[in-house]
Amino acid sequence: MDYQAVLDYIREAVEPAFGKGRVADYIPALASVPPRKFGMAIQLPDGRNFTTGDAAEPFSIQSISKLFVLQLVMSHLGDMVWTRVGKEPSGDRFNSMIKLEMEHGVPRNPFINPGALATLDLLMSLKGDTKQRLRDYLRYLSMNDTVQADPVVAQSEFEHAHLNRAMAHLMKGYDNIHMDVDELMETYCHQCAMTMSCVDLARAGLPLAMGGYSPLHEESVISTSQAKRINAVMLTCGTYDSVGSFAYRVGLPAKSGVGGGILAVVPGKMSICVWAPELDAFGNSYVGAAALEMFTSLTHTSIF
Ligand code: GLU
Repeated sequence: MDYQAVLDYIREAVEPAFGKGRVADYIPALASVPPRKFGMAIQLPDGRNFTTGDAAEPFSIQSISKLFVLQLVMSHLGDMVWTRVGKEPSGDRFNSMIKLEMEHGVPRNPFINPGALATLDLLMSLKGDTKQRLRDYLRYLSMNDTVQADPVVAQSEFEHAHLNRAMAHLMKGYDNIHMDVDELMETYCHQCAMTMSCVDLARAGLPLAMGGYSPLHEESVISTSQAKRINAVMLTCGTYDSVGSFAYRVGLPAKSGVGGGILAVVPGKMSICVWAPELDAFGNSYVGAAALEMFTSLTHTSIF
């Protein structure tokens, strides 16, 4: 398969999809990202990678960070995470609170905002500096020592995080948040403000495609069973409340973020990251989802 030709073809073929989505602006610092950026990278287990467009340009990973926080929590605390969050799709927006009260402060899954807050709360209960632990993990997985948070984006979100703060207080009322809410919010905004490129994220996602083993580091970063479970939650909960259509169109476990990135996993074969900042009505990259749909159709890599 000539992956380079496929990626270059996709970069041209998605051109008509630009202008149909909107860059996220509820976090003011994200509104200034140039909307027409497009990057795509794939990482193969044999070490080869292929890229097109702005694949080397760092962007705000936002909710894609939830995938790595979940990995850290599972590798330190195992299945205990499932006592604090569920593993069902929510069918609601990522920042909705509608079910949270009815379900006594237990979020549906770790990839919606309340679930990510509960997961981060668990990570913060471990000894050590949580921000540094996450940064070091992302640097290790991506093999890029320059990965860091963008303080302007973190501050911008912190100042506008009214809904997230409300959820955290609601969950604290149900004893499902144990940390101080301000400290949790500050750490959460920092987590979401990590900046990485498609190349970095494709590398960082490879162990999920390889049963937890990182061929680039020649060691396992999570267990095979954890990789299986995380992929299942990505497939069913990773792309907001349009997860069914995403599975229908793309057919891969994936996690998206409102920065316009989507990290997708082709089990046993590769990881793929695409970035295009304009979002559809659900919060997924409009052009990114179209690019992944083309990729799995052209390369027959859907899991279905
Ligand atoms: N930091 C964003 C928020 O909490 C993340 C949302 C996302 O990327 O889905 O709203």
